[in-house]
Amino acid sequence: MQILDGKKTSEALKAEIRAEVDALVAAGHRAPHLAAILVGENGASITYMNNKVKSCHEVGFESSLIKYPDTITEKELLAKITELNEDPKIDGFIVQLPLPKHINEKLITESIAPEKDVDGFHPVNMGRLALGQGTLIPATPAGIIELLDRYDVPTEGRHAVVVGRSNIVGVPVSLLLEGKYKKGNCTVTVCHSKTKNLAEITRQADILVAALGIPHFITADMVKDGATVIDVGITRVADSSKKSGFAIKGDVDFEAVAPKCEFITPVPGGVGPMTIAMLMKNTLTAMKIKRG
Ligand code: NDP
Repeated sequence: MQILDGKKTSEALKAEIRAEVDALVAAGHRAPHLAAILVGENGASITYMNNKVKSCHEVGFESSLIKYPDTITEKELLAKITELNEDPKIDGFIVQLPLPKHINEKLITESIAPEKDVDGFHPVNMGRLALGQGTLIPATPAGIIELLDRYDVPTEGRHAVVVGRSNIVGVPVSLLLEGKYKKGNCTVTVCHSKTKNLAEITRQADILVAALGIPHFITADMVKDGATVIDVGITRVADSSKKSGFAIKGDVDFEAVAPKCEFITPVPGGVGPMTIAMLMKNTLTAMKIKRG
């Protein structure tokens, strides 16, 4: 069994991005600039945002964190997005989800200029991905593929089972795994909450991606010997033994499942850090596309 170490791999990726940024700056260009909008006081969102800002510093990017109270109106938020869309010094920006209920997330996502949409959630970017022409690819799925690539996990002709069909993880990762890419060419089965006989399907997986958000849902009896298991889940579970008061749990019962696997990602330290590194990579890509 080999751990797919997302922490170590993301550090290597960030060092490569840093080297590219340093070379750009040395050649007289400005560093890429990522802006992020955070609405409200959601604890998990604040942690993700702080990690993103920290990563920007590590790779030599400029960053702007724009915080609003959850009383901000949709109109005010849209006005800020228009401003960022038009600002030539901003290469990419993200609006951290979830947003308060009075704000229409679909409208917000669609108002971001596709070329600055470094989360890759805009319908134009999702459509390009579906057509095999993706450039700004959602960071979590892109991070999973990067991990498979860097550990040389075979994918061609394998049966990949993805549990979860969200627009930010399940759907894009299934498109990438089935696409004609170096780390694609899988035969993909996508499962969701209405899937019948789920364990029967997951047991057929050479590559199993768990992206449902239910801690330790994937148990050892659902995994075949020698499988590669990618655990996307991040759930905060109350834990009084931790200083923070919570522990982070994945969707896979790691202790029981890992001994059966050829490769497996841990939580934390697997897909999570790769997501942030790929967001940095998308920002650099957005800048390069703009510069032509
Ligand atoms: P969503 O809640 O949007 O989607 C969950 C999916 O799981 C849905 O498609 C749902 O099916 C399916 N599902 C729910 N229950 C079951 C079940 N019992 N059996 C089979 N399928 C089920 O979640 P996200 O995709 O946004 O996130 C999934 C997890 O990944 C979360 O823990 C999230 O925190 C984490 N995450 C981690 C990231 C990282 O960087 N590591 C980034 C993004 C997310 P249906 O469609 O039928 O409702």
